[in-house]
Amino acid sequence: MQHSKLPADDSPNPDALFDGVDLRRLAERIPTPFHAYSANAIRTRIAGLQQALHGFDALLCYAVKANSNLAILQLMAEAGVGADIVSSGELWRALHAGIPAQRIVFSGVGKTAAEIAEALAAGILRFNVESADELELLQRMAAELHVVAHAAVRINPDVDAQTHAKISTGKAENKFGVSIDEARRWFADSARQANVRLDGLHVHIGSQILSVEPFRLAFARVAAFWRELEAAGHAIASIDVGGGLGVRYRDGQVPIPPGDYAAAIREALAGFRGRLLLEPGRYLVAEAGVLLTRVVRVKHGERRRFLVLDAAMNDLLRPSLYDAWHDIVPLLDDARPPHRYDVVGPVCETGDTFAVERELPELHAGELVLIRTTGAYGAAMASTYNSRPLAAEVLLDRGRHAIVRRRQSLEDMVAGEQPARHWETA
Ligand SMILES: *Cc1c(COP(=O)(O)O)cnc(C)c1O
Repeated sequence: MQHSKLPADDSPNPDALFDGVDLRRLAERIPTPFHAYSANAIRTRIAGLQQALHGFDALLCYAVKANSNLAILQLMAEAGVGADIVSSGELWRALHAGIPAQRIVFSGVGKTAAEIAEALAAGILRFNVESADELELLQRMAAELHVVAHAAVRINPDVDAQTHAKISTGKAENKFGVSIDEARRWFADSARQANVRLDGLHVHIGSQILSVEPFRLAFARVAAFWRELEAAGHAIASIDVGGGLGVRYRDGQVPIPPGDYAAAIREALAGFRGRLLLEPGRYLVAEAGVLLTRVVRVKHGERRRFLVLDAAMNDLLRPSLYDAWHDIVPLLDDARPPHRYDVVGPVCETGDTFAVERELPELHAGELVLIRTTGAYGAAMASTYNSRPLAAEVLLDRGRHAIVRRRQSLEDMVAGEQPARHWETA
């Protein structure tokens, strides 16, 4: 239990120290709730993966959707990391943050003609194609622009990633990718598509995966298909193994060591001389983020004791959306008797609940609480529901901090809205 290891003297509570910054002092300067990210933690994760992949011609393409703040993308750019995008909004962000187009791959089942045109014009590295219809559209758009698009087929390997149903993507009943049978036909017909060079394979089986076994299964299927294609005379220039590496949200969860993950790739792709692409999202940023919030009040219900925070589901949706566990750590200096709390936000939804019957030391209004492991799919999934402006985001780096998103003003929040004054008929 985090609250049992209290400091013996007046040194800062170790839980309050994050990338050399005392979060309690930070919360005196920046109103809660806000997200804080450790630049060092992100750099460490990047370097660990890059080192594990030595010997490969490997490129990390960070899955922008995990945390798309421009400052985070800038960190990626500085570390030589590319981007895996799923919309033209993400393309725009990645380019603006200084990630070169030649390090950008485009995934997703719903790429529109306009999005494909933008990505072709920017000159991105590769399209991860998810349907026959998309392949035809890519050919048409590339022909119009007189360019050749590089494409990979996203294989749905039909493996169970043993993760939450809402973040599993590699089973036959999921909407993502195509079967190996269908992919085989694409390669047989690939000469027909003069403006698409189909020379890549892509697989992404899901998220928050903590066992190397599902990866092994998926990589083995992709590798067998690669060997079959090579034997049939189809050169494969790149294999993209997707993302999905899990992180520690609670005690007992242990991320796959990068060395073990790399070993699974090495084993499956023995003899592969092309480009290896990876699309980690959560793994690079989740544990590098915390959400700082204060207790608004403690409410004693009939059956439950509610800890009402100033953060809500609009700031961090994962508990509401996936029943996800996040460690909740009060930043206190003294020992307190424990209580069981339902930890909730102020939003008018029963689902606005961060934790049910969580044992925490006794807390009072105004006290600071840390919600851990919020760097991925936290701010990125935020909304202004209940007209709560988007929270600030702060980057920490060895004792210093910089605001990388100011808290949204009310004017920002309603920007673009207007009374219906100019009525027209279509
Ligand atoms: C979401 C996604 C990722 C990143 O997943 P993580 O679990 O965050 O690593 C990578 N590739 C694709 C195609 C995705 O949709």
